[in-house]
Amino acid sequence: MRNPFDTEERKTFREMVSKFLEAEIWPYVDEWDEAGEYPHEINEKVCELGVFGFGIDEKYGGLGFDDQFMRKDVSVEMGRTSAGGLFASVGSRNIMLGPLTELANEKIKLKALPALMSGKKGGSLGITEPGGGSDVARMKTTARKDGNEWVLNGSKTFITGGMQASYFVIGARTGKEGLGGISLFFVEADTPGFTRSSIDKKMGWWSSDTATLYFDNCRIPADNLMGEENKGFLAIMNNFNYERYMMGAQMLGMAKRCFEECVQYSQERQTFGKNLIEHQVIRHKLADMSAKIDAMDAYLNQVAQLMNDGEMPVAEISKIKFYCSECIESIASEAMQIFGGAGYLRGNAVERIYREVKVMAIGGGSKEIMKDLTVKQLGL
Ligand SMILES: Cc1cc2nc3c(=O)[nH]c(=O)nc-3n(C[C@H](O)[C@H](O)[C@H](O)COP(=O)(O)OP(=O)(O)OC[C@H]3O[C@@H](n4cnc5c(N)ncnc54)[C@H](O)[C@@H]3O)c2cc1C
Repeated sequence: MRNPFDTEERKTFREMVSKFLEAEIWPYVDEWDEAGEYPHEINEKVCELGVFGFGIDEKYGGLGFDDQFMRKDVSVEMGRTSAGGLFASVGSRNIMLGPLTELANEKIKLKALPALMSGKKGGSLGITEPGGGSDVARMKTTARKDGNEWVLNGSKTFITGGMQASYFVIGARTGKEGLGGISLFFVEADTPGFTRSSIDKKMGWWSSDTATLYFDNCRIPADNLMGEENKGFLAIMNNFNYERYMMGAQMLGMAKRCFEECVQYSQERQTFGKNLIEHQVIRHKLADMSAKIDAMDAYLNQVAQLMNDGEMPVAEISKIKFYCSECIESIASEAMQIFGGAGYLRGNAVERIYREVKVMAIGGGSKEIMKDLTVKQLGL
């Protein structure tokens, strides 16, 4: 479906990204996924495109402008590669750049932002804890002020990109119980008292490094506090909006890829004397997929325009996150069905996407939490 908001500038940008991905990523997705890692220089190559610089000043290595349609296009194209794990890790910097840009002091910004945006250093966001991820307000990791330092104790888990990252934005409790006692901190990986271990066996995102982080009397400078003390919860929630919006766009890309693979396969595969695509049941599956893809796309475009106009439509972003996850779950499942036994074999995009739909319904705020947030935002 044509995007009525599209412009020449956005088209040129989208084509630049997709050309790069087709040459540098598409041919290697299976290989890197099976290896459980990707070459480190990919971070820099992807970052050179400028795709993580939206909304960030040029003096820090950013693009100096923002555009939600371009953000969307990047995520859609990344989703289409079916390299979910790779872009989870390369993109983990993206979910900590917002708070870093808005809340860190100038010294930290000058040190970390150019290194993160050029891909020379990795960055991760640490909110989830072994005790739970949905109920952010109950986080247990603590930060205690001691003279000119904060002392962190506790742990974080499921941290994407956490084995490679040099810089972290970490949520920790600085005050009373509940959402009013949480603050955000900038933590460097070489700080004494910080250690990490790898979470290796995952259902999907094989090429992504996922970590558990440990803070054992980890001392960081007092001015590594980001923003106001005890005001971190709101910053975490604001940051989630961008992550969820871009995950919606990534799911659209995954859905498009499933559709493209199915069209191609059903035009080639013959059963009962004709091509699969000539069977009405298969044609209906394609029609259903296409309608869902258009709905996801149109929803994202509408929200992109609202965000470009300066609004932050939290309810709609939450709806996008869970709606797109339900669409991709059904699209990936039908795509597997169209491929039959061939879909069950490793080494094809449909099989990988099928394994990676669940994380899209859990990470960055689960489907259930998104629905809760939606009705709350609707004032119900
Ligand atoms: C591969 C991967 C990468 C991740 N990357 C990161 C990262 O980089 N940084 C980070 O901080 N976190 C990350 N996460 C963590 C992710 O955000 C959490 O897994 C998610 O928020 C859910 O938290 P939980 O797993 O602790 O589930 P829980 O909070 O224990 O919830 C379990 C289930 O119960 C449901 N549930 C919880 N409360 C309610 C309720 N009130 N009503 C109905 N249902 C409810 C949830 O929706 C979920 O289905 C990642 C997770 C995965 C799997």
